[in-house]
Amino acid sequence: MKRITVALAGNPNSGKTTLFNSLTGARQRVGNYPGVTVEWKEGIRRTPDAELHFVDLPGTYSLTAYSEEELVARNYLLGGGPDVVVDVVDASNLERNLYLTTELLELGLPVVVVLNMSDVAAAKGLEFDTTLLERRLGAPVVPAVSSRGVGLDDVLASVIAVAGHNGDRPPARVDFGREVEPRIERLVGTLATGSGVPAGQRRWHAVKLLERDHAVLRSFDDPAIAVQAEEAAAELDLDGADTSDVTISRQRYAYIDGICRGAVRGRALPGLDRTDRLDRIAMHPVWGVPIFLALMFVVFNLTFTLGDPLMTLMENGIGSLGVWIAGLWPAGSQSPLRSLLVDGVIGGVGGVLVFLPNILLLFLAIALLEGSGYMARAAFVMDRVMSRAGLHGKSFIPLLIGFGCTVPAIMATRTLETRRDRLITMLVLPLMSCGARLPIYALLIPAFFPQRWQGPVLWALYVTGIVLALVGARLLRRSLFRGETTPFLMELPPYRMPTALNLVSQMWTRGWLYVKKAGTIILGVSILLWALTSYPKPPAGWTPPADATPAPAAIAPAAGATAGLDGSSDAGPDAAAATAAEVEAAAAMAYSVAGRAGRLLEPILRPMGFDWRIGTALIGAFAAKEVFVAQLGIVFAVGNPDENAEALRARLRRHYDPLVGYCIMLFCLIATPCMSTVAVTRQESGSWRWAQFQFWGLTLLAWILTVLVFQGGRLAGIA
Ligand code: GDP
Repeated sequence: MKRITVALAGNPNSGKTTLFNSLTGARQRVGNYPGVTVEWKEGIRRTPDAELHFVDLPGTYSLTAYSEEELVARNYLLGGGPDVVVDVVDASNLERNLYLTTELLELGLPVVVVLNMSDVAAAKGLEFDTTLLERRLGAPVVPAVSSRGVGLDDVLASVIAVAGHNGDRPPARVDFGREVEPRIERLVGTLATGSGVPAGQRRWHAVKLLERDHAVLRSFDDPAIAVQAEEAAAELDLDGADTSDVTISRQRYAYIDGICRGAVRGRALPGLDRTDRLDRIAMHPVWGVPIFLALMFVVFNLTFTLGDPLMTLMENGIGSLGVWIAGLWPAGSQSPLRSLLVDGVIGGVGGVLVFLPNILLLFLAIALLEGSGYMARAAFVMDRVMSRAGLHGKSFIPLLIGFGCTVPAIMATRTLETRRDRLITMLVLPLMSCGARLPIYALLIPAFFPQRWQGPVLWALYVTGIVLALVGARLLRRSLFRGETTPFLMELPPYRMPTALNLVSQMWTRGWLYVKKAGTIILGVSILLWALTSYPKPPAGWTPPADATPAPAAIAPAAGATAGLDGSSDAGPDAAAATAAEVEAAAAMAYSVAGRAGRLLEPILRPMGFDWRIGTALIGAFAAKEVFVAQLGIVFAVGNPDENAEALRARLRRHYDPLVGYCIMLFCLIATPCMSTVAVTRQESGSWRWAQFQFWGLTLLAWILTVLVFQGGRLAGIA
């Protein structure tokens, strides 16, 4: 059977995903393009005549190289990947969508144009002369309503037909006009001599060279080509009223205007359409921001109120699993395997999976806001506020999600167009105080501060994080990420009701990545951290240094130290025997690698007022911030650590004073993103370099600020 590779291209929001889903059904594979974070989707459709392999390219407005998405799409097309390109255009917005179409045709690829959203166009009163459009574009034009499955068979038939007789219909050739054409011809001539560009792609390359496209310029080794390209572009700058790229894009639109003339007829609709009316509210100069904030408030509330019962279910499930596994060994067993599974695997991976319901709900809400077209408005409304900090309007959403959990927030930076904006947002995101840090504050604030100060201290911590994030972003923008800012050019798609299938599939795709991560990276690091806090075991008869263990006291059971995430860890019947076991655990901790590391770290910790115990707990906090509380519990041998543990607070009060308490929280707020954050930053930035930069940068910042606060506080006489 004939195998045809079909690339799906189109503007964002043209209905590309919907078409892809309905063409390929469940037979899909999702992954990433190698080396970058752009999503890659593949699916297969079999017809009696052929096996069609669909590749869903990222949605783009053009084939310039402004964003990673555009670069990925065009590299794939230039690489000679597809046999046919299906170009999904939004018929209700034809002229804008044809911009990409003309670029695709320029690449010399066989194209099938799908006039999607025909229903919306019809409702707007637009009519199309498809025969005329076909003739002018030199490509088949197929009307469709992909959300209702209308026109799919025609699309398939056209694809097979086009794949069959390659190139018997010359594709349209954009006429760029008197000023531009001679220069294109000249560059095509240059490219014809040993540049290695295939004949069919020379014109496209020439146009890109004239536009001063960096990626295309860089793709040639021959410096002579760059010189000639710059010459031609400079001539064009002088001739026209604009720079060469603006002239070229204007000519392209003029050409598109010519294609549509007579082929698209529409009666002017009286008054404003629904989108305009809604935009008057959503993008109101005064109310736009409050409306957005209110909507986000609702989303977060729903995520947490709907998510909480589900989260409890997860916690109970994972808790029972832990109890069941623990029960495979006799009570009180010291088996390393038992400890590994219960403390390491369940404690680590389970602790992360517990958040899955919240995360799925959040992704669902985001998919709904995106799919409906609202998100684009929100970004527009927030752009003014965010741009003061050197951030893009769209960064606002990830930052907000960061109050919940940094991991999905970093994933949400995918909505940002440029790599620079993505990286800046990613790097400062851990400063938004995530939910996992709340247990730390909840433990420490009441330990050191009187009731009336508790609220303000918590507020101050959150605000410190926000201010640092904004200042940090600004500094990054001014230093490492200098260069032209991307203009806030965002299409405002019309409001639409997203289909349930789209919503669920988006939520699931993103959620699955989270699950996969928990099963791989987090699993690995959990085991490592468990080993570090468990080994080496002290030899029999070893006496810990005097300050390593607390005086035995009435202490609660130990097992809670595993994750510190939930109440599922009560040791139950073992409680009475806990005291001795707990003291032993604390001694073992002091002897373990993590305990020793804590001691090794003391010279660095002391200027902040911390001792080795806090150092050990901080190492644990790297696994997940909540582990800090659990870990402190082990070190101080107060079992069942929990933010309400008055006993632990009493001990903390005995060892530290309020200034140190505040410094601990300040340090936890700023320092050392948890391992999931590091892993996801690595994954989303595509390199360890950025993950390390974030890790060390924030840790150093935390150290400096905490030392300043501590030493300054001491100087000021605060005990
Ligand atoms: P993509 O960004 O190009 O992948 O666009 P999507 O496939 O996510 O579609 C954007 C929105 O348009 C979704 O809410 C779809 O349900 C909706 N949609 C897709 N195709 C059509 C169509 O032909 N008619 C109408 N009315 N809506 C559509």
